[in-house]
Amino acid sequence: MDRTLLIQELEKKLGQEKVISDKVDLMYYSYDSSFHARLNRFMPDVVVTPRSTEEVSEVMKLAYTHNIPVTPRGAGTGETCGSVAIQGGIVMDLSPWDTIEEVDVANMQVFVRPGVIHAKLNQRLAENGMFFPPDPGSSLMCTIGGMVANNASGLRAVKYGCTEQYILGLEVVLPNGEIIITGGMQSRAVKSVSGLNLTKLFVGSEGILGVITQIRLRVWPKPKGRGIVMAVYPSLDDAPASVLEVYKAGILPSGIEILDQSAIQAVNMYRAEINLPNAEAILLFEVDGNPASVEWEGLKIKEIASQRATQVEWATDPKRMADLWEGRSVVATAAARVRPDGSRVFAGEDISVPLSKVAETLREIRALGKKHHIKVVNYGHIGDGNVHTAPVIDPEQPQEVEAAQRLVDDIHRLAVRLGGTTTGEHGVGAVRAMYAELEHGAAVKIMRSIKQTLDPKGIMNPGKVFGPEEE
Ligand SMILES: Cc1cc2nc3c(=O)[nH]c(=O)nc-3n(C[C@H](O)[C@H](O)[C@H](O)COP(=O)(O)OP(=O)(O)OC[C@H]3O[C@@H](n4cnc5c(N)ncnc54)[C@H](O)[C@@H]3O)c2cc1C
Repeated sequence: MDRTLLIQELEKKLGQEKVISDKVDLMYYSYDSSFHARLNRFMPDVVVTPRSTEEVSEVMKLAYTHNIPVTPRGAGTGETCGSVAIQGGIVMDLSPWDTIEEVDVANMQVFVRPGVIHAKLNQRLAENGMFFPPDPGSSLMCTIGGMVANNASGLRAVKYGCTEQYILGLEVVLPNGEIIITGGMQSRAVKSVSGLNLTKLFVGSEGILGVITQIRLRVWPKPKGRGIVMAVYPSLDDAPASVLEVYKAGILPSGIEILDQSAIQAVNMYRAEINLPNAEAILLFEVDGNPASVEWEGLKIKEIASQRATQVEWATDPKRMADLWEGRSVVATAAARVRPDGSRVFAGEDISVPLSKVAETLREIRALGKKHHIKVVNYGHIGDGNVHTAPVIDPEQPQEVEAAQRLVDDIHRLAVRLGGTTTGEHGVGAVRAMYAELEHGAAVKIMRSIKQTLDPKGIMNPGKVFGPEEE
């Protein structure tokens, strides 16, 4: 269908105010937070901002009839080019559709539209002493729709898991415009084993199977107490060993973060007053729960960590906790400081490996950085093996960009070789689609057949999650 005609048809269905076609306005939708989008421009033909399930369905029917690609988009904070229309067509911006439809306190669940911002939902839930535990670093920006589509998580996933564990049901508009509800049409049950679990199928499907228009979320009581242990290690191997010893003592912290030597150096260069001790690794254990158990667990972790660490501190005072946590909270920004003319590249940034391989992974990444002549800063959620790697380069230098791409490819392959995954939380999008077969083997065939069943014309977010089918 001709672009002008497409715009006219969309305006007829949605009204002019929900259709964006000005070339300058479309620029905003040509990128997300990925390095890939920084290197390439992917302009959509048109953007729509529907505010009802029926409007989403009308757009999908039009697109389906005329074979037009549709890319759902939340806040565009994704790191993988997932919300970018790499084959053109329609970008469907769900971020303005941000209604919290119902907080069902009696049944510990909420109904939200896809554009609700994560932090705003938690602010609202806090009024009732509840919270939605997954906690991405992008909490102030990202949408619940984007979190569901990416199965997002954060530094508390070690205890609270990923978004999928909280999704009770979804309303989804399929590529042909049909509307379905998963998890039971009328259900408010928080436990159900009825039918095939279609909710799980759509969670983490990155917009390639349909558009999520409503989410039924389970929420939890908000813990009253919190404390932090900081432990400083002279050897990298001592850090995962300490984590395992804490688990063996029967303690599951709400967060276990690592800064390796490169991250410690970056933080101190960024803000000298933080003054982290020079060491091979620093761990931060966060515990939460009722104040009495928090105190017991914190002191126990301190005792365990002291067997290997040269310096250990336990704090529950809010000011002291904030001071201990500061190095971790600035590290993503601090990374670029290891090189005065450098920028941090968001690529290869969230592999996840088994706990027993974390030290080896960090050493190998250090060696890969040397091989490709690139400084890499490492930190992450050691509790679940999710390592954040931050290569720092001058992106204006083509040879450095190429070297970074080779480095990132090596990092992804390293993760798979060590029994991990190319992505622990940010998803596949366009940038990791080429590793689908390497990581999943024959299972990719089944994934493709599910996609084919739901989206026979291949119009939903094409070019994402799997690479082109091999002949
Ligand atoms: C500073 C920063 C920190 C981050 N920290 C974390 C972190 O700790 N943990 C983590 O998991 N991620 C993190 N991210 C990545 C990103 O924020 C998350 O993946 C987030 O969930 C994406 O939400 P979004 O609204 O921006 O979605 P978008 O980026 O707009 O979209 C992401 C994907 O979801 C699809 N999608 C969006 N909405 C819908 C919908 N309604 N229906 C169907 N498909 C849809 C898109 O097509 C795309 O494939 C971070 C990003 C930044 C910039």
